[in-house]
Amino acid sequence: MALVVQKFGGTSVADVDKIKNVAAKVIREKKAGNEVVVVLSAMSGETDKLIALAHKATEFPDEREYDALISTGEQVTVTLLAIVLNSLGYRAKSFLGSQVKFLTDNAHKRARILSVDTEIIRKELKQGTIVVVAGFQGVDKDNNITTLGRGGSDTSAVALAAVLNADQCDIYTDVDGVYTTDPNICNKARRIDKISYDEMLEMAMTGAKVLQPRSVEMAKKYDVPIYVKSTFSDEGGTLVTKEDKDMEREILSGITYDRDQAKITVVHVPDKPGVAAKLFTPLSQQNIIVDMIIQNVSLEGFTDVTFTVSKKDLTEAQKIIQKTAETIGAKKVEVDDQVSKVSIIGVGMASHAGVAAKMFSALADEGINIMMISTSEIKISCIIQRKYTELAIMVLHDTFGLEKKSS
Ligand code: ASP
Ligand code: MG
Repeated sequence: MALVVQKFGGTSVADVDKIKNVAAKVIREKKAGNEVVVVLSAMSGETDKLIALAHKATEFPDEREYDALISTGEQVTVTLLAIVLNSLGYRAKSFLGSQVKFLTDNAHKRARILSVDTEIIRKELKQGTIVVVAGFQGVDKDNNITTLGRGGSDTSAVALAAVLNADQCDIYTDVDGVYTTDPNICNKARRIDKISYDEMLEMAMTGAKVLQPRSVEMAKKYDVPIYVKSTFSDEGGTLVTKEDKDMEREILSGITYDRDQAKITVVHVPDKPGVAAKLFTPLSQQNIIVDMIIQNVSLEGFTDVTFTVSKKDLTEAQKIIQKTAETIGAKKVEVDDQVSKVSIIGVGMASHAGVAAKMFSALADEGINIMMISTSEIKISCIIQRKYTELAIMVLHDTFGLEKKSS
């Protein structure tokens, strides 16, 4: 008997008929003789609606109540699935994060899981119960409800698979796996059979929406292989797992993009110790995440500093940086909210020379200007004008021959 964790995303549980379809997938695993733990998201669009309600009530809702509110979408889906399973003659029980004790820290909206109490789940599994757990939520040590950040039910599922030492962790979604790039943009995009944790993490962090980055981080830490599968078809699937020899043959695994980017430049900043700290500390105090940063070589004691933030943070970041710029004697602040980040990812690039040059030449041939570059061992990201996002993706996909599987 195997222990299987199945997670279904918002589009898979969007209405009662879809929940019945999910029930069929759950029953299939149960009938195969397995112990089954199911983790669900809210119905698609529900969490957005709840967030909008909170902000309609007031501009800055109390964080404790906000988390308690936006976690309710999952309560609807887990109970409905348990009701459907029970009506079909299967013993099933729903549990909220607080009931199975997903203990988290108290960082509302982005809480981290500290531990999961497996006792209740194990007891139920032993009695043959299908255990249905609400994703995305936990509880802190003072019993306040917390949430794990958008897309957090992926992380709930991986955490459960880790603590229960599950034999299988299947993440069901509306696509049949992880693709070399977004198939809606590039019709030559190919499904990837197997990808390493590290590459998947870079893909998730640079814009691939299929898995929450934290879930991949956790999968890597506890070595939980993840199967990304389609709820609507039995074909395909992508295995996210430890790096192996097959994977090394590919130079690139994928190309991602993120349109949610804005660029801020502080012009003519005095180039002396402490200035960067002065620029970025007030931003971090407001929880604004800065992605790429470049500082130019200084000329006669002055330099320009450019960085990117998420578009939703631009107005606040601009306000903060404007103030700082004045106090440190910079000339002015310029912003550009018409940029995208395009990234290429692959473990193979660590051992192949010329990958960056090839990327830059391909973009140059199309007349696409690169505004900023950042790299890791297995990733190169470029900031470009947003209107060139699709073109850049298609050109890079061709240049690196991603439509064909190398063998
Ligand atoms: N319902 C939550 C969200 O929309 C969590 C999830 O779907 O994973 O972000
Ligand atoms: Mg998701």
